[in-house]
Amino acid sequence: MASIIQTLPTEVVYLITAGEVIDSLAAVVRELVENSLDAGATRIVVAIWPQQWRVRVADNGCGMNLEDLQQAAIAHSTSKIRSCADLWKINSLGFRGEALHSLTNLASLEIFSRPAQENLGWRVVYGEGGAAVEVTATAIAPGTVVTVSNLFGNCLSRRQGLPPTSQQMKAVQATIHQIALCHPHVTWQVWQNDREYFTIYPCRTIAQLLPQIIPKIRSSDLQELKLDVANLAHSALNLVVGLPDRCHRHRPDWVRVAMNGRMVKCPEIEQTILSTFHKTLPRDRYPICFLHLVISPEHINWNRNPAKTEIYLNEVNFWQEQVIQGIEQALRISAVNLKEAVQTTRVSKLLKAAEAKGNYNFQPQNSPEDDQQTSLKAIAQLSNTYIVVEHPGGMWLVEQHIAHERVLYEQLCDRWQIIPVEPAIILYQLSPAQVSQLQRIGLDIEPFGEQLWAVRSIPAMLQHREDCAQAILELSWGGDLQTAQVAVACRTAIRNGTPMNLNQMQTLLNQWQNTRNPRTCPHGRPIYLSLEESALARFFRRNWVIGKSHGI
Ligand code: ADP
Ligand code: MG
Repeated sequence: MASIIQTLPTEVVYLITAGEVIDSLAAVVRELVENSLDAGATRIVVAIWPQQWRVRVADNGCGMNLEDLQQAAIAHSTSKIRSCADLWKINSLGFRGEALHSLTNLASLEIFSRPAQENLGWRVVYGEGGAAVEVTATAIAPGTVVTVSNLFGNCLSRRQGLPPTSQQMKAVQATIHQIALCHPHVTWQVWQNDREYFTIYPCRTIAQLLPQIIPKIRSSDLQELKLDVANLAHSALNLVVGLPDRCHRHRPDWVRVAMNGRMVKCPEIEQTILSTFHKTLPRDRYPICFLHLVISPEHINWNRNPAKTEIYLNEVNFWQEQVIQGIEQALRISAVNLKEAVQTTRVSKLLKAAEAKGNYNFQPQNSPEDDQQTSLKAIAQLSNTYIVVEHPGGMWLVEQHIAHERVLYEQLCDRWQIIPVEPAIILYQLSPAQVSQLQRIGLDIEPFGEQLWAVRSIPAMLQHREDCAQAILELSWGGDLQTAQVAVACRTAIRNGTPMNLNQMQTLLNQWQNTRNPRTCPHGRPIYLSLEESALARFFRRNWVIGKSHGI
């Protein structure tokens, strides 16, 4: 194999953001596994001995021949770019040609490597400046094993600045989790002090991988969506969202953005994700959302900082718009989104128990054509509270009050309208804070005499309500415009306990189905309970009965 690693020309070196990226065990792991991924590895074994400050990464990637091995740790040596222009065509995780070189300054470095097409591998020990000081032929499997030992051994103050071992190992784990999510097809095995620490099995999709990483999440709690971006060649948006009626977090720790194989900080996009989920989750809860953008490399400047965790993204607004549309599409109720059998935990537990001894293979049938609107049919009302709904995939119970609340809330957000009232509504004994709150949400209000105030304009939706004065009092108690809109929606929505006829129920279902966030009400409560046909078929052993009793 021809030698491919070369030293970068000086003009490129000048363009690359300089800076030390190796500041911890986790950073060593990140640099080494990124090299493995760039080498096309599908199996990566990471071993860490934190007390010895030693890390070993073994991969089944393309390997290096002897010439490359001797060049690999020289300053600014890389096989990934050649020229300034290449900085705008970056398809690899690395490109600065600095990691191995820095490691020879900060630690002892030894590499075993063998390209698949050669019979023999080589072991190289590096010295000062990255020169190969020991070279021996060795019999190993194709791939590369990099060992970094005695990290910061010549700079003990850097060790002292680092947190205790347990925290460093947590950081290593978080680093590998993040990288694994961007490369779901890779098998990871991680060892600590010669004992298995964790393993990540490869998956076809991120939604299948995520439950290995976030405890207590199941892939049926997630909705995955892949969108090709129109008008932009080679660009796509991979989105995995936690369905807001199934899962959320107490911190925004799982709002993550990756770009072209790497987790990045992109505050603009993260903020967009958080605000798109606004008023779909309970108070102080945050969504699970992992977004992987695949963007043609000329739109990204990876050179914002040396660790490449921050980037400059061209046309952020465009991407924000795509993300909003993507999330809305993922949360919609449509046949596509219902492909995965949707069950509540209790129903699925029941099914699991019932199925324990059986072995059934039910494949839900989906017709590809009807992917936008699902026909929901109101069948009956239960306890004057729930609408029993039939749809092609099974049966739902929809809670009438909160479904209506979701409909009204979105109408209010889209057209919040304040209209005059005649005669004015008179309120008694308002505090100055209440008065200014009502003014802030746009109502006309003025003193009307001793302890009395006249409200001369109100939200349109309240105009025909007998309890209008009460509703306005409620609005005066604080919160922002959105809180006021939630309050008005809640007050105006049909109460539970109210009988509805089929027509009324059908109208509500149609409206509800077209909302942007049909899964939860603005307070974050789930709106419907589903019992899918696939689950019913499993529960009633439908396949089994047909097969056995007819002797087929
Ligand atoms: P960079 O990744 O920025 O190119 P590094 O110092 O990390 O710089 O690596 C230098 C070069 O060594 C890489 O460009 C690559 O050609 C080679 N290399 C490093 N690790 C591996 C590996 N695990 N498998 C194959 N080649 C590797
Ligand atoms: Mg590298």
